[in-house]
Amino acid sequence: MKLDLDPEYEAFRADVVEILSTNAHLAPGPEDKGYKNPKRIAWQKLLIRNGLAARTIPKEYGGYGAEPDILKARIIAAEFARTRIQGPMSGQGIAMLVPTLLELGTEEQKQAYIRPTIEGEMIWCQGYSEPGAGSDLAALRTAAVEDGDHYVINGSKIWTSTAKQADMIFCLVRTDPTAKKHEGITYITFPMTTPGIEIRPLVDMTGTANFNEVFFTDVRVPKSGVIYAPNKGWQVANATLTHERGMLGDPNATKARFLELVTLMKSESVNGQRLIDNPMLRDRLIKLQSEVYAMQANGLRIMTSRLKSESPGLAGLIVKLNGCDLNHEIARLAIDALGELGILYEEGEHLRSEGSWQWRYMYDLGLIIGGGTAQIQKNIIAERGLGMPREPKLAKA
Ligand SMILES: Cc1cc2nc3c(=O)[nH]c(=O)nc-3n(C[C@H](O)[C@H](O)[C@H](O)COP(=O)(O)OP(=O)(O)OC[C@H]3O[C@@H](n4cnc5c(N)ncnc54)[C@H](O)[C@@H]3O)c2cc1C
Repeated sequence: MKLDLDPEYEAFRADVVEILSTNAHLAPGPEDKGYKNPKRIAWQKLLIRNGLAARTIPKEYGGYGAEPDILKARIIAAEFARTRIQGPMSGQGIAMLVPTLLELGTEEQKQAYIRPTIEGEMIWCQGYSEPGAGSDLAALRTAAVEDGDHYVINGSKIWTSTAKQADMIFCLVRTDPTAKKHEGITYITFPMTTPGIEIRPLVDMTGTANFNEVFFTDVRVPKSGVIYAPNKGWQVANATLTHERGMLGDPNATKARFLELVTLMKSESVNGQRLIDNPMLRDRLIKLQSEVYAMQANGLRIMTSRLKSESPGLAGLIVKLNGCDLNHEIARLAIDALGELGILYEEGEHLRSEGSWQWRYMYDLGLIIGGGTAQIQKNIIAERGLGMPREPKLAKA
C-alpha cells in the first residue's frame, strides 16, 4: 500500500487548510447547540459551497457536485480532525437517508428531500425498532394498509432518536402480512406532523430524552413516500443500515476524540503532575492510540478496496463494533483520568469540558447497542466475514 500522497493531493490539502483557516471565525462553537441553529446551518452551507461537505452529492440536489475521490474525502476529514474546527453536520438524515435516496429514491424524492436535509433544515428520524423487533428487526409488526393512493398506519416504534425534533421519518412498515417475514416490509417516508402520531420521550442514562416511543393511530400517508418499491423495504433498510454502521464507526471522528483526550491529559494535573505523565494512565493512552491507528489503517484498507471497486469484506464488517467500542474506551479513560472530577455530572466549577466526557461515556455505551448490538455485529463478522457456521436457531416450542 502506498501511503504518501501525490502532489495533486498535497495541493488539495493546502486548499482545504486555506479554506478552513480563512473561515474558522465563522465556525459554530460549543455554545451553538441544537438542531436548526442558524450559525450551524450557515456554516454547513459555507462548507457545501467550498466542497467540504456534501462533496459528491450532485449540484442539482444541493451538493457540491465533485467526482467521488476517496483520498480527497480522507484529506478533508483529517484536516477537520487536526484543526478541531467544527466539521460538516451528520445524523440520520444526512449520513443514512441521503445516500439511500441517491441509490434507490425517485427523482421527485431526491429533489424534495436531499437539499434541505444536507443543509440542516430538514431533520429526520429512523422508525425501525419496535417492542419485540430490535435485533430481529424483520419481526416488525407496525401495519400499513392500502387505502387508494394512501397507506393507513397503525402500530408503534421505540428507541426512535430525535423523533421530537424530526420533521420527517423514514419508517419500516408491514404491508403484506401474508408474505414471509423479510418480504412483506415497505420503507416509507412521511412528515412527523401527520395527524395520529404521538411521541413520548424516553430518558436514557445520560439523563436526557435522546430517544422516544412513537405511536401511530390511523396515520394516513401518501404512497409517494415509498422508497424503491412496496414490499421491498428489507433491501432498502439494509442499504440504510450499512450507512448507519459506517457513520457510527467513523475512524476520523474517533481520532478527533482521541486528540481531545490527549489535550485533556496534557492540560489537567493532580498534585502538580500532568495526567499524561502518570505512567499508568499514559500506558492506557498509548494502547488506545495504537487502536486508533489500527482503525485508521483499516479505513485505508477499506479505501483501497473501494478504489479498486472491490468489496471491503471483513474490513467493512468490523467498523461499527470496533469504532463504538473504541469511542467508549476513550471516554472511559477520560473519566478515570479525571478521578473524582470524572464522576461529577451537574454544572459546577469543578466540571471539566462541560461534562462532555461523562455524557459521552454514557451515550457511547448506548451506541454499542444502537444500529445493531455488539453481539449481532460479532455474529455478522463470524458468519459473513470469517465464513463460520450460522448460529443455531432455537427449537420451536
Ligand atoms: C442510543 C440508541 C439509539 C437508538 N436509536 C434508534 C433509532 O433512532 N431508531 C430505531 O429504530 N432504533 C434505535 N435504537 C434501537 C436499537 O437499534 C436496538 O436497541 C437494537 O437493535 C437492539 O434491539 P433491542 O433493544 O430490541 O434488543 P434485543 O434485540 O432484544 O437484544 C437484547 C440482547 O440480546 C442480544 N441478542 C439478541 N439477538 C441475539 C443473537 N441472535 N445472538 C446473540 N445475541 C443476541 C442482544 O445483543 C442484546 O444484548 C437505538 C438504540 C440505542 C441504544
